[in-house]
Amino acid sequence: MGKIYIIDVTNRDGVQTARLGLAKLEKTMINIYLDEMGVFQSEFGFPTTRHEYLYLEANEELAEMGVLKSIHLGGWIRATVGDVETAFKLVPKLKHLNLSISTSDQMIQGKFQGRKTRDDILKSMIDAVEAVRSHGIETIGVNAEDASRTDLDFLIKFASEAKAHGADRFRYCDTLGYDNPFTIYETINTIAKSASIAIELHCHNDLGMAVANSIAGAKGAIDGGQDAYINTTVNGIGERAGNADLVATVLAILKSKSLAGKYQLGMPIALTKAWKLAKFASYAFGVPIPLNQPGVGDNAFAHASGIHADGVLKDPHNYELYDYTELGRGEPELVETGREICSGEYGGISGFRHIMGKMEVSFADASEAEKILTLVRYANVESQKPLVEDELLFIAKYPEIAKKLLTLRPLDVPEIGA
Ligand SMILES: [Zn+2]
Repeated sequence: MGKIYIIDVTNRDGVQTARLGLAKLEKTMINIYLDEMGVFQSEFGFPTTRHEYLYLEANEELAEMGVLKSIHLGGWIRATVGDVETAFKLVPKLKHLNLSISTSDQMIQGKFQGRKTRDDILKSMIDAVEAVRSHGIETIGVNAEDASRTDLDFLIKFASEAKAHGADRFRYCDTLGYDNPFTIYETINTIAKSASIAIELHCHNDLGMAVANSIAGAKGAIDGGQDAYINTTVNGIGERAGNADLVATVLAILKSKSLAGKYQLGMPIALTKAWKLAKFASYAFGVPIPLNQPGVGDNAFAHASGIHADGVLKDPHNYELYDYTELGRGEPELVETGREICSGEYGGISGFRHIMGKMEVSFADASEAEKILTLVRYANVESQKPLVEDELLFIAKYPEIAKKLLTLRPLDVPEIGA
């Protein structure tokens, strides 16, 4: 029986959301937290985007160093030979890639304006897959953008050709959040049986069904004899109304009626890391976690009404489906209410030593402290907010990687005045 794997796309779909973005150090911290949690893959960014390549390279190095232990780092590019060549030129260490192309008639007419036919789309995808394979990569996923509005027979052909040319997974993108659990189950089940390829579910929340659709799609893939890979984002942040929330998706797999115990995760997920990850993403994006967010919202375990409070005090199972400790909640948090010394882009050595000293970090000598402080200042310039403890510790521990993350070198831009 097939299994369910999580591919988190916060560092790709999340950061391409209007009004939101992350510093390269923040993206790196998210990769580290996802890895600690046991997530199968992080779609860590855009290998053809000039300002990403040093960040992507630095994260590949973290994987080589064993700082990132088991997580796959997957890049996202368009399914064209040109993008493949640029990606490997900028990030030669890439091991996992997803190639994306629109497949629906709506996009063929509305986006490509009739300049591409279905055959052109197939050819572009096949050529791109072949080009990736020539670079000796570990896994390839092929994405059908707007799959939910694509003719099913064409989708099956697209997925079958992808497999025949060496793709490992087919990504079904419900780009507009158009599906519902009933339609996506049927569609995915048919594709799984007809194309015999592992299927990724990429669901958006425009109708409030991203998690439900992801779960139903995964069931369709497994019932059709294939593994399922669900695309999630932390706190559901993604384009427009967002994507399937990571924590809610994992909870649904582990806790929901008739799924729990039957449909299983391919890798165990440490939900106890959920609280820390959700809080960090909220801080980094500058987007509060909704009060009623499953598992990690302030009200997820709050009871006020007399009947519920009485019931939960007698036995939590009366009114709670799962325990707050499973999400890593319950530790009291210390919030400074008096004098506070923060890291900042104009910070000095004495304040910095005070902050690091509180975390029991000491430096060999003044020049080492000065070197780390400089990196911290640069990180503050990029994030425009005080760094969290884990970020400061990361910089102190891996200064060379931090330096790379904080370096922006404009490529293909002529020298001013040259
Ligand atoms: Zn998306």
